[in-house]
Amino acid sequence: MMSLRYGKAALVAFAALLLAVPQATAQDRAPDRGLSAPAAAIRTPDRPAYQVALRADADGSHWTGRETVSFRNSARTPLRSVDVRLWGNAPDGCGTPGKPSAVRVSRVRGGTPHPRTVGCTALRIDLTAPLAPGARAAVSFDLALTVPDRTARFGREGAHRYLGNALPVLSVRDAQGRHLDPDVGFGESYYTLAGDFRVVLDHPTALVVPASGTTTRRPGAAGRTVSTSIARGVRDFAWAAGPFRTKRLTSPGGIRVNAYWTAGTPAAGIAQTLKDAPASVDEFGRRFGRYPYGELDLVMSDRFDTFGSMEYPGFVLLWTLPEGSPAAHEIAHQWFYGIVGNDEYAAPWLDESFAQYANELYYRLPTETCWKDAGIWPSDTAAITRPMGYYAAGRRSEYVQVVYLRGSCALHDLRRTLGAPAMERMLRGYVRDHWQGVATTADFKRAAQAATTKDLGPFWTRHRIR
Ligand SMILES: [Zn+2]
Repeated sequence: MMSLRYGKAALVAFAALLLAVPQATAQDRAPDRGLSAPAAAIRTPDRPAYQVALRADADGSHWTGRETVSFRNSARTPLRSVDVRLWGNAPDGCGTPGKPSAVRVSRVRGGTPHPRTVGCTALRIDLTAPLAPGARAAVSFDLALTVPDRTARFGREGAHRYLGNALPVLSVRDAQGRHLDPDVGFGESYYTLAGDFRVVLDHPTALVVPASGTTTRRPGAAGRTVSTSIARGVRDFAWAAGPFRTKRLTSPGGIRVNAYWTAGTPAAGIAQTLKDAPASVDEFGRRFGRYPYGELDLVMSDRFDTFGSMEYPGFVLLWTLPEGSPAAHEIAHQWFYGIVGNDEYAAPWLDESFAQYANELYYRLPTETCWKDAGIWPSDTAAITRPMGYYAAGRRSEYVQVVYLRGSCALHDLRRTLGAPAMERMLRGYVRDHWQGVATTADFKRAAQAATTKDLGPFWTRHRIR
């Protein structure tokens, strides 16, 4: 998420915004690491395929229908259960008898559900039968989404509805075990494997519905439209609904850009975003590998000050002011989080520092003195590679300064150490080697070390990349 393109004043404002969101409680932070460890790089269940059909009410506040997800067991041992993450429940937890949770699952098939855990953001389903290594199975469930009454990435503002992190997705288990980390309430804690989505949304024709993937529309029942979105090789799926104004354009590099904005969004900011988005998606394609998702949806509003901006595959929510929006930063996330996935809870720098680095390259911002400008380390324990749990446990004030400022500056320093051509080649290779996969800090350090004869050990130590 986020932007730092307006310089220091906006950074201070953003840091204050981050500090204003309530933190997770200690009990939310206890991860479950109960699974016997498979080999290091094995992540399961993988190759998920989601089939979703939802029907909206009159104003897009409620969506009900069914979700089916099939998956492969890529581990060497039978898979006995899967964990589904209901991230949309993070802010409000399990709800109350009069006000149920925002994401509700029922009539589970393909297995037996446990009670929800981790603040109702995790649902374990014991599979009907153990799934052999290499075999596929599916679970399905009825799904009911209630868009929360707040301006948020899963929330509403005026007549507009935003459904980011609303759709349940499969969790990952790997050498560290099951990943049942909490959403700490700032930044991202998500970790999913790339898969395919086919999402059919039946909604009133009066609602414009931007969505991840490539979308086709056909008439439904009287006054309704059925929008079908296909998204391949993505880790998540998001959409919005409301009386958006729209414009379609194509970048010089041939990427279809669909822009959507609310009536209150300032015209100057829309115009600036419509310059930055096509230019940055093309530039990052040249730098890191061609944008693979066919089309890119920009959803702009001047009212996102409560959360900033947010990236989803092929779909970005952009807080848009007269000066513009953080389009370049959020579009850079299409590569760093989207194409090259990471465990955002364990290693938030692998998406945020890299997106910010790419953003600074796009704007040709001077970075020669960035290490000094970032100031002294905020604490002895601060390090660029700290997990979200570290920041959530009383170190939240360090998050932006370390992950965004120092993290991106460390990458500029690395560019100066390797030389710009070697850095460009290295990053292209790093993206290619982890294309629609998952990378770790160790993977990145290996890629960087392979690009130079210098020993990068002292570089990692000095920059606290561990
Ligand atoms: Zn970001």
